[in-house]
Amino acid sequence: MTATIPTNGSAIGIALLALGDRWTLLILQRAFVLRTRRFGDWVAQLGLSESTLAARLRDLVAAELMERVPYDDNGRTREEYKLTPRALELSSLLLAIWGWEQVSVPGVEGAPVLIHDVCGHATLPVLGCGVCGVSPITARETSAERGAEAEFTKIAVPRLHRRAAESGTPADALSYYPETMEILGDRWSTAILAAAFLGIRRFNAFKAELGIAPSILSDRLRRFVAAGVLSAPSSEGEYRLTTKGMNFFPVFAILVDWAQRWYSPESAHELTIRHTSCGSPLGPVLLCSECGTELVRTSVHFDLPAGHFGG
Ligand SMILES: [Zn+2]
Ligand SMILES: [Zn+2]
Repeated sequence: MTATIPTNGSAIGIALLALGDRWTLLILQRAFVLRTRRFGDWVAQLGLSESTLAARLRDLVAAELMERVPYDDNGRTREEYKLTPRALELSSLLLAIWGWEQVSVPGVEGAPVLIHDVCGHATLPVLGCGVCGVSPITARETSAERGAEAEFTKIAVPRLHRRAAESGTPADALSYYPETMEILGDRWSTAILAAAFLGIRRFNAFKAELGIAPSILSDRLRRFVAAGVLSAPSSEGEYRLTTKGMNFFPVFAILVDWAQRWYSPESAHELTIRHTSCGSPLGPVLLCSECGTELVRTSVHFDLPAGHFGG
């Protein structure tokens, strides 16, 4: 929709390029949950180096997910970073990730609690069909149709940053769990999971579909099996999504929807996720597990465990 976004490659590929990075996800999450806007505050909250932060913020601005806005600091004009409209819509994606963690990663104490301000209850996001209103929607209630342009090889985009060392990202209660980072923290991983949702099961099929180097593919498949997201290969060499992997479907559906709305021309949807029972393309919405109304960015907040987020 704008000229400054790279237009080569698929919308989903461009979205993965913009988001599939551990630090980027954490920077965005702090911006949403703690309303972090200033360079020094991210450094304090995340403990990352200034050069790493500067590089990620530069990419976020280039992808039109953040914009620099001036503010007055005791008479000196400085700049802070504000989420753009397209980034604000990612609140659904981050809520879906949080919801998956609550359901699928056991034994977390002191995790932040999501409160729905409309009904006042602690809530879990439930995926619904935005057209017919039915919920919950799982992957099994949908079908995926690829458009003519939907070649996953187009997702094979170069990495801008080296994979961050796992020990480098913070381990407080607000940060994503290591398992989430295995899935979303690098764009190859996310592309492999997307291919799995489209029914790809065999090593050679992943390789052909994604144009991925065999060594990287082996490594990521091994990590997914260890994380319990894919089953160990069957005697036919098939990797299947486990229940835990299937539970990631809301994140996948929201990512595909968001990517195609913001990075595709109107006519060129590469992938349609259809709600089988109503026959419409699934306009994914997140609903409150307690009252059933839609969870929107301005109607939820996190109750954070005390003492964790000094900054
Ligand atoms: Zn429907
Ligand atoms: Zn509610």
